[in-house]
Amino acid sequence: MNGLIMDYPLTTTTILNYAKSAFPDKKLISYLPDGTRHEYTYGQLYKRCCQLANALKNKLGITKGDMVGTFAWNHYQHVELYYGIPGIGAVCHTINIRLSSQQTEFIINHSEDKVIFVDATLVPLLEKIAPLLETVEKYIIINAASGFTTSLPNIMHYEDLIGEQIETIDWPSLNENDASGMCYTSGTTGMPKGVLYSHRSTYLHAMTILTPNAGNYSNKDTILLIVPQFHVMAWGFPYMCLLTGSDMVMPSLHLQPDAIIKILESEKINKANGVPSIWRGVYEAMKKNPPKTKLALEEYLVGGSALSASLIENFEKDFGIKGVQAWGMTETSPLGTASRLQQKHENLSEKEQIKIRAKQGIEFPGIEMRIVGDDGEVAPRDGKTMGELQVKGAWVIKSYFKTNSRDSFTKDGWFRTGDVSTIDADGYMEITDRTKDLIKSGGEWISSVALESALMSHPKISEAAVIAIPDEKWSERPLATIVLADKNNTVSSEVLKEYLAKDFAKYQIPDHFVTIDQVPKTSVGKFDKKEIRRLYAEGKL
Ligand code: ADP
Repeated sequence: MNGLIMDYPLTTTTILNYAKSAFPDKKLISYLPDGTRHEYTYGQLYKRCCQLANALKNKLGITKGDMVGTFAWNHYQHVELYYGIPGIGAVCHTINIRLSSQQTEFIINHSEDKVIFVDATLVPLLEKIAPLLETVEKYIIINAASGFTTSLPNIMHYEDLIGEQIETIDWPSLNENDASGMCYTSGTTGMPKGVLYSHRSTYLHAMTILTPNAGNYSNKDTILLIVPQFHVMAWGFPYMCLLTGSDMVMPSLHLQPDAIIKILESEKINKANGVPSIWRGVYEAMKKNPPKTKLALEEYLVGGSALSASLIENFEKDFGIKGVQAWGMTETSPLGTASRLQQKHENLSEKEQIKIRAKQGIEFPGIEMRIVGDDGEVAPRDGKTMGELQVKGAWVIKSYFKTNSRDSFTKDGWFRTGDVSTIDADGYMEITDRTKDLIKSGGEWISSVALESALMSHPKISEAAVIAIPDEKWSERPLATIVLADKNNTVSSEVLKEYLAKDFAKYQIPDHFVTIDQVPKTSVGKFDKKEIRRLYAEGKL
């Protein structure tokens, strides 16, 4: 028997309508790429979303199910795209601006974007590959300065596109399971994979991250969104802020520690998000040059890489600012866990409390997790037994977009994260290793497999194995070990860096290359990365 409750679709438009009704005066503040500060209310955001949605339909011919790409920084126009595009049933595909041209080209062709909204400062990155993009009919330029020119074909300016449209719309009724957004992740084999979010998953994820055991956000908060909108929908914050009525502040490209501190000060930010390398940078800059008056910042939420106990401890001791660790993946929308203390932890020593907070945390309601050992059995929650972390839930993917996904799931339907972890008796998960062969530097992935195959295509190199090594600033950096084809030859790091620069973004290129006699191998002849990591840890590389 069905319950007698209305069918009320949980969509991004439901969120937008709610903010218009409940919080029309709350603010969205943007520091635009040219440094100007822009401010308007959620009431005005609503009107411009209507204008955008009308323009998408009437001027660009976008219809239900079409892919619309964004290649942009965090700012109000990008938030308008987060609502305007899915509002008419199309898919808001946020493209990562930090990938190599090759990966960007692959992603745009694979997703079949029809239109791309691009920030003027990022246009040069697309100009290089535009002739190779098979499906893009139009480029809409955001924030162009006067005198802007480009070789991109079929361009239009954002304000010209939406300017003449009316500020109301009869939003189409959508099924909450319709696709609303898309983001590509990197795969172990090097090719990015598309994750297609639904309206329902986006809504439920946003509702959950505002809860006290997760982000703990409310109408009284002013939140700085440092996580890029091109990276897993900025962790859902542009949706969450409209549900809570928190003021939202967007930094666009002003992401250097000093610029962030300036925004924290002038906007009286009390909550923020970001990867650990950002917060380490902010902490170090504040240590060097302490703010004259205490910042309003109470708490920063971290994910993407591990937040270390030392950063949690030092930030709190020196400035009274609390770090909260969260864990997630593109495939999990992204947030799945957070590590906050519970009532039962109140009497623990500070040291023991920090140890818990440095774990990845307990799962949110709507997410289930388990650890599975090499024997295929679910491991006990004893804080010691390691295994692969597997998850299920209301915002976890069931398949990649147009890609065979079989290996990513267990037979009984759990998603295999590729993270190796433990879960303790209190349910706190802690990541200990990774089965996927990737390096996470400054919150962005680097594929060791792609680097290895590129290095091994160099005529002077016979074998190359790349591992992640810990790095204070970036969490991890790639270290390349190479075996020379002719032992009497040499090849300099500079030559190799230049060689890799054709195919890789700058941040993906290893800083160090170590020549070794041979790459250690496993019993089946695969590169034994564990052994290489051990050699590195023992100072033998
Ligand atoms: P995002 O970087 O946005 O979280 P990705 O899909 O790019 O999403 O990366 C997900 C992976 O990042 C996880 O599988 C895990 O390896 C790593 N990761 C995410 N959060 C943490 C964390 N708090 N601590 C350690 N590793 C993390």
